[in-house]
Amino acid sequence: MSVKSSKFVTALKKYGYWIILGVTLGVLFLVIGLTSAFASEKTPAKDDTSFVVNDPITFVNPVLTVDVSKNYSNSALQYSATLKQWEAHKAIDFSAEEGTDVFAVKDGKIIEVSYNYLMGNTVKLDVGNNLIVVYSSLQNDVPVKEGDVVKQGDVIGKVGTTAKSEASDGPHLHLETWLDGVNVDPNLYLDLGEK
Ligand SMILES: [Zn+2]
Repeated sequence: MSVKSSKFVTALKKYGYWIILGVTLGVLFLVIGLTSAFASEKTPAKDDTSFVVNDPITFVNPVLTVDVSKNYSNSALQYSATLKQWEAHKAIDFSAEEGTDVFAVKDGKIIEVSYNYLMGNTVKLDVGNNLIVVYSSLQNDVPVKEGDVVKQGDVIGKVGTTAKSEASDGPHLHLETWLDGVNVDPNLYLDLGEK
C-alpha cells in the first residue's frame, strides 16, 4: 500500500464518522426543508371549501310564520309524493295557508315574473352580489312585475298551490337561491332557528 493511500485510509478512519454524520444531517435538513415548503404551499387548500360566503348576506324570512315542510337537500334524496319518486330538493318549502304574504328577503330588483306547469307562478329577485332568489308556487295575480325595485319585507306574492310538481304538499312557498348561476342552500342566508 502506498503512503498516499494509507494516509487516505487513516483519514477516512479518523473522519469517516463525521463525514457520514455530515451527509446524513445534510439530507435530513433537505428533507425537512422540502417538506415544510410543500406544507406551506398546501396550507391555503385547507380553506378551499366548495362554497364560501365572502360577504355575509342575511335575509329576512320570506313568510311571517316559518314552517319548513321540506328542507334543502343537495344529495340526500327526499320522496316527492306528487312525482312518486325520490329526488334531491334543492330548495326550502315553507308550508303556509293559501294567500299568506310572501316577502322580499332583501332589497332587490324583480328580474322575472313567470309561470310554468311544474313550478307554478315564479318570481325571481336579484339581490345583488350575483345572488338570485327564486320564489315558486305563488298564487295567481302576482303583485310585482319585471323591473320593479323592492325593499326588504315588501310583499312580492302570496302562497299558493300552483307548483304542480309539488301539488301533494299543499299550499307552500318553494324558495331557491342561485349564486353565480349555481343552486345553493338558502339556509346560508336565512336564520330559521332550530326547530
Ligand atoms: Zn319545493
